[in-house]
Amino acid sequence: MNYGIGKRAFKILSRVGASLFWCDRCNVPLLTRVCGLCGGEGRQVKVTPPADLRPALGLEYVRLWKLIESELEAPCPYPRRRIVLLNKIPYVDSADEILVDGYVIGHRYYDLLRGLWRFKPMYYGVSAILKSKIGYYAITDIEFLKRGFELHAEDLLEANLPHRGSEKFVAIGTMNGYEGVGIFTKKKRIRVLKSWKAKSFEWNSANPSWLDAVAANEARLSTLELEAVDFLRDAVKKYGYQPVVSFSGGKDSLVALRLAQKALGKVHLLFNDTGLELPETVEYVKRTARGIGAELIVASAGDAFWRGLEVMGPPARDYRWCCKVAKLVPTARAVRERFSKGVLSIVGQRRAESASRARSLRVYRNKWLPNVVVVAPIHSWSALEVWLYVFKERLPVNKLYFKGFDRLGCWLCPAIEMGEAEAVREQYPELWSKWEDFLRAFSEKRGLSAPRREFSARNGSSWGCGGGWWFRVT
Ligand SMILES: [Zn+2]
Repeated sequence: MNYGIGKRAFKILSRVGASLFWCDRCNVPLLTRVCGLCGGEGRQVKVTPPADLRPALGLEYVRLWKLIESELEAPCPYPRRRIVLLNKIPYVDSADEILVDGYVIGHRYYDLLRGLWRFKPMYYGVSAILKSKIGYYAITDIEFLKRGFELHAEDLLEANLPHRGSEKFVAIGTMNGYEGVGIFTKKKRIRVLKSWKAKSFEWNSANPSWLDAVAANEARLSTLELEAVDFLRDAVKKYGYQPVVSFSGGKDSLVALRLAQKALGKVHLLFNDTGLELPETVEYVKRTARGIGAELIVASAGDAFWRGLEVMGPPARDYRWCCKVAKLVPTARAVRERFSKGVLSIVGQRRAESASRARSLRVYRNKWLPNVVVVAPIHSWSALEVWLYVFKERLPVNKLYFKGFDRLGCWLCPAIEMGEAEAVREQYPELWSKWEDFLRAFSEKRGLSAPRREFSARNGSSWGCGGGWWFRVT
């Protein structure tokens, strides 16, 4: 989900953020201060709000280490852990803080201008480079590393620098306990980007599994489950509508489904097939319904999106006709046909997902479909809580999470970030070329400029704003 970079959005999200603790004895993340494994108290971890942390899994995990090595042009100076957390941070495109052993080692972000992923070592990631002398670093006798200051060769006591000015990141240490990160410029100087007072730390020797992390957080997960189950039972009693789980194929709705099963027994699933789902998702939804013996009601948009394109042109962030056509219309039809007396729609929405979700309520009536009451049992859960619950219940998640996709749903949503679009382009080239062929034909027909990529820092989007079109640089 795209947070954008707006200060307002950031402030709203900060308010719904979760706290994160770390048990330094067991080396696991904690949702509350006390560790369920050793009974000890955890250390509070400072991360960027709303701290909607998620595990690095599968391909994302593999690629993360590769990225670090290719960026540092050295073997990875950090311990490769089973438990690595990613925390989405505000940026013009995809960007995450990376946590190893409960320490922020740096940022991974999608460089829009170069069209590739980068790793910037920060904080403990910088300390580790300086300590191990693996990767690019410089030690200086300059006392104060001011942002924008350029270190020249004569300022350095010791260094390992790239051979040419390559815009590579360089870890910087001073003699009086400051550290920072800089960039190696074309003039072979190190321009300081950020600096801070260094903190001492040690890598942990334990390398527990995600199931250990579940055990450490058992109490919190049980409390969350109990509360959500009660909430769902009360909602059914209060509204008297037939409950149905709105199942998208994502992890959040998977957890909502499990909670609904625990609260209500057998439930129906409603899947909104927008026609823009990745093939794995459609297959996964069917398999999940079969697996639990639930009836699957499909609200299908068919090819309504592609037909709409001819009339309305490509959607954009502030021109999202596609949601109406691909989501609202087919859902309304399915509700009318199947639940004419009203329906209690159980969804996996969470406040920490986006600024607009942060303001949403846990129970509300759909403003377009008044006989639909929407209930969100995991409204206040963090992504880490969701993932730990998935692991605890051993729920089979959509394979796409292991292929580097964090946000599932329409693969060409205008709210998508370029980093996410890249994953689609790379792994589903046929789908992507269908889209690009359309854009090319669309621009030619209207005598527009050749397809090009536009992004707006204001919107934090790789899509044209104000009804502009989105085109990829080729
Ligand atoms: Zn512990």
